[in-house]
Amino acid sequence: MSEHSMCKKILLSGQAGFRVHYCETHRTVELEIGAMSLRLDEDALELMSDSLAESVSKLHALQATKGSFEAFMRQLKNA
Ligand SMILES: [Zn+2]
Repeated sequence: MSEHSMCKKILLSGQAGFRVHYCETHRTVELEIGAMSLRLDEDALELMSDSLAESVSKLHALQATKGSFEAFMRQLKNA
């Protein structure tokens, strides 16, 4: 399959400002983030997805910790 073969793209995920297409011809994944686009191979998408999921989960944990710390401080003040 040559680099010049026609792309056969399918939409994997689409929302305003963030779309993910897969090109079956070139087995690449294309991210469209606003005006920016990024082409990745399948492995890089998996890596990116794992990394983003880990980041979101850690961020939530961090915010939850911060939230409970603030609630604790409020309780101390009101006591
Ligand atoms: Zn293509």
